[in-house]
Amino acid sequence: VTERRYLDDAAVREFTARVDRSHDDRVVLDRTHFYPSGGGQPHDTGTLSTEEGTWRVTRVEGRDEVVHYVDGDAPPEGTTVAGEIDWERRRAHSRYHTAQHLLSAHLLGAYDAETVGNQLYEDRARLDAGYDRFTEADLGDVESALNDLVDADLPVRHYRLTREEAERTLDPSRTRLDLLPASVTEVRIVELGDESEPYDRTACAGTHVDSTGEIGTVAVTGRETQGSERERIRFELTE
Ligand SMILES: [Zn+2]
Repeated sequence: VTERRYLDDAAVREFTARVDRSHDDRVVLDRTHFYPSGGGQPHDTGTLSTEEGTWRVTRVEGRDEVVHYVDGDAPPEGTTVAGEIDWERRRAHSRYHTAQHLLSAHLLGAYDAETVGNQLYEDRARLDAGYDRFTEADLGDVESALNDLVDADLPVRHYRLTREEAERTLDPSRTRLDLLPASVTEVRIVELGDESEPYDRTACAGTHVDSTGEIGTVAVTGRETQGSERERIRFELTE
C-alpha cells in the first residue's frame, strides 16, 4: 500500500521516497505526493530523480498502490528517489477542484440538483447535475453566486473520519458516502466555510486550494443537456 501523502499536505511539491517495486516503465513508491487520476481530477506529472538520472512522470494511477509511469526503464527497487510535482498543473487542478465543490454545493442548495459526474482539466471543467434544464438566467445566477463565494474567501479544511462515524454524523445527500466502495473504511472529509456551519462538506480525496479566494474569477461558459433530467455545466477560471 502506498502512503498517499498529498491527502494530508497538498502544499508539498518535492519529496523523497523509496522504490518498492519497479517493472519496465512503472514504479511503485513507499509513499508519494503525486496525485493519481480519479474523482474527475487528472493525475499529476513531474519528475523522479536519483544520482543516476531523471525520469519524467507521465501518468499516475491507482489508489491502494499508486503506479507512476515514467519515460524509460524505471529506477530499480530499493533506490531512494527525489520526486518533484509540476506545480502549475497541480495548482490549476486544485483551483478547479475547489470551484467544483462550490458549484456542487450551490446547485444542491439553490436547485436541489445533485452532482452526478464531473471532469476537470488545467483550463476548463464540466459538471453533470440531476436537473431538467438550466436557463440562461440560471447560469448567470450560478456564475455570480460562485464569484461571491470566491470573494468571501472561505477557508478549506480536511480531516479523516471512520466511515461509520461519517455515516452517523454527516448529511448523506451532501457527503455522497454511498458512492464509495464497501472496502473503504476511512474517509477524508473536506469542508468549505465556517467550522460550525460549513457551506460544503463532502467526502473527497482530491486536492484543493487553502481558501476559495485562490480560485480566481469563475466564468460559466455553457450548458448542454445529457438526456432527460441531466444537465452539463461548463466553466472556466481566470486568476
Ligand atoms: Zn474535492
